[in-house]
Amino acid sequence: MRKFASIYIHFPFCKRKCFYCHFTKFNYEKELVDKYLNYLVKEIQIRSNLNYKIDTIYLGGGSPSLLNEEQLSMIISAIYKYFNIENNAEITIEANPEDITYKKLNYIKKNGVNRLSIGIQSFVKKDLVYLKRNHSVKQSIQAVENALNAGFSNINLDFIIGLPVQTQKTLEYNFSKLKDLDTSHVSVYILEEVKKDKYSENRDNDLYFFAKKYLESIGYIHYEVSNFSKNGFQSKHNLKYWKDKNYIGIGLSASSYENNIDHKNFDNFDDYFNKIENKKIPYKESKTIKHDVRKIITGLRMIDGISIENFKNHKEELKFLEENNFVKIEKNRVSIVQTKILLLNEILTYFL
Ligand code: SF4
Repeated sequence: MRKFASIYIHFPFCKRKCFYCHFTKFNYEKELVDKYLNYLVKEIQIRSNLNYKIDTIYLGGGSPSLLNEEQLSMIISAIYKYFNIENNAEITIEANPEDITYKKLNYIKKNGVNRLSIGIQSFVKKDLVYLKRNHSVKQSIQAVENALNAGFSNINLDFIIGLPVQTQKTLEYNFSKLKDLDTSHVSVYILEEVKKDKYSENRDNDLYFFAKKYLESIGYIHYEVSNFSKNGFQSKHNLKYWKDKNYIGIGLSASSYENNIDHKNFDNFDDYFNKIENKKIPYKESKTIKHDVRKIITGLRMIDGISIENFKNHKEELKFLEENNFVKIEKNRVSIVQTKILLLNEILTYFL
């Protein structure tokens, strides 16, 4: 029987590199981009596996919204050629607001992409200036309106909170714009690049719980540490990461998880190109994490947690975390206590 799996494609180029971003990315240079895309298609061919049923595809980066029509259709048609794609597969592309003109959105849609993840970051001018973003508030609003007009109904907006210039008042204004646009999904990340002291940690905490409360009050369901969605619009692709499902990561630095083994591709062009030239999968490293531990550390990110079954060999740790009110057990499911969400990474170290 064929198994379900997902495909992630990494496009590691941006017009400008943001100071707070940890993803693998390089400045957009046409020659390098053309060469990379040729190798990316070769990797898709090398990774071809018709035993999988692919039900989600995610084009991330970097800035895949810089791809022109020809480049995008080259990638998508290669995926369709070398994998079995389900009819109703969720196909997402990450997009910067300044890139998505109405015209571009039409060819994105024509290529089968049915979900957008737009890097809004904030609808407050002061925040965008602090983040040194390339786009304005006006462009952000225009981008979402273009997306809605082009017929996209599944749209995520990414926000960053915890900026030194941010207050509850500005965050409230920020989300009031979101309320007007009423997209199906929202992600909220805490800025990591700033050196945190007790004061900024408290501020992050206050802003995070303010955001959570506000978003829930306007109809979003909190389903993962950073993710909120309208009913039925959870990111199917991201759920694969937290639900222990197979995913095939293609491109520079992409991560894969297949048959309980984690793999990471090379993150420099020379090694990446060389491996593909030799018709090898460009893995830089592979490792196996104990299966129950991996299920716990990924699964506890979800607000409704995971089955207590997964803790059979971790009864001591579970008892300690429950007694100290870090996790709760309800109807045979273990989940993080909501007020402790921001301590999740520290809590998970108990299982490592
Ligand atoms: S545009 Fe996005 S991927 Fe590129 S550097 Fe900025 S945050 Fe990172």
